[in-house]
Amino acid sequence: MSALTNQRIDGKRLWDTLMEFAQIGGTEKGGVKRITLTDEDRRGRDLFRQCCEAAGCTVRVDSMGNMFARRPGRDESRLPVMMGSHLDSQPTGGKFDGALGVLAGLEVLRTLQDLSITTEAPVILVNWTDEEGCRFGRAMMGSAVWSGIHPEAAVKALRDEDGVTVAEGLAAIGYVGDQPAAAFPADAMFELHIEQGPILEAEGIEIGIVTGAQAQIWWEAEVLGQDSHAGTTPAVARKDALLTAARIIELVDATMREEGSDGIADLGRGTVGRLAVFPNSPNVIPGRVKFNIEFRNPSDARIAEIAASFPAKAEAIAAANGTSLSLTEVFRVAAQPFDAECVALVEQAAKKLGYSARKMVSGAGHDAVHVATRVPTAMIFTPCKDGLSHNEAESIEPGEAEAGTQVLFEAVLARANRVV
Ligand SMILES: [Zn+2]
Repeated sequence: MSALTNQRIDGKRLWDTLMEFAQIGGTEKGGVKRITLTDEDRRGRDLFRQCCEAAGCTVRVDSMGNMFARRPGRDESRLPVMMGSHLDSQPTGGKFDGALGVLAGLEVLRTLQDLSITTEAPVILVNWTDEEGCRFGRAMMGSAVWSGIHPEAAVKALRDEDGVTVAEGLAAIGYVGDQPAAAFPADAMFELHIEQGPILEAEGIEIGIVTGAQAQIWWEAEVLGQDSHAGTTPAVARKDALLTAARIIELVDATMREEGSDGIADLGRGTVGRLAVFPNSPNVIPGRVKFNIEFRNPSDARIAEIAASFPAKAEAIAAANGTSLSLTEVFRVAAQPFDAECVALVEQAAKKLGYSARKMVSGAGHDAVHVATRVPTAMIFTPCKDGLSHNEAESIEPGEAEAGTQVLFEAVLARANRVV
């Protein structure tokens, strides 16, 4: 890689800051447990606020606890350019999921300050509340309310396993802000994130230019058969709900593989990740099985096709096995393409800096996907070791963090200084 700009972020300072934040909720195995609206989350937020203020920003908090650090522009009448991600983690999370995007944004602010750069438009760094969804069951919660996707009152009434509501959790850590949790006009949003998948690493590519997020469909499935004695019920008399479920899981996998593949970056995903078997006894043929099915695909048309054809195929499998299937669609989201101009800025930044880059679709949900419904948005991915995330062993190289942050810096600067 070669640097064609003399405006460089400080890779060492970035890495030191990543390691400093990783101490907050740091686990013995080298991961991070900084679950949303806990004391660890509060400590991370307090340090984030302190760092942003030291970098010349004013920090505002909205009623969902989303934090916005604003650096003034030369022309305050211009809409702000946003960047950011989330500081909360999974219970056994890593140091970089979310934190990289927030702390890269902090490094951008610090670099602007060091180089005495005043951008034309203001710049805002965001720390979104509860991206992970592991405590209250709503992933990307703060950005969803901000974007108007979930109503605030309903989200604030959600409870964790101990019966604590989101509203109580926010109050307990002192992060109910005075700003309404609603989208404000912004010129653009850029989110840097680790890929959380294996493509960049496998192809030896430094930067992922994310063009959008996949469409998804989720079903709850229930197969009804008949509980009966494992020792006495002959093959012809069995109504084995688990066998039906197994055959439907095969169908999910086959449907995914129909997409074809260009190797590791193949299209389409199909997964059954949860299964409940009743009565779940070793010597009873299961009479009832509940499970979840999800498909993801970059193409809305393909998801529509799966939505139309999958239920009949699955029902036929259930009937052929003497059982019945009910499928309830619980969730369907359209593919969310990112803004072409913002994506082009990421591409141009990677090219200018001499980094290898490829376009890709995000397999996971991100705050940026919600924000993209309101504000022109793009994402930057950096590789992570073995594609591993939501795991304490999640790992990236300092040079990878630096490259992603330098691209973020260039893209934000170009957008904030564009001629309007
Ligand atoms: Zn994340």
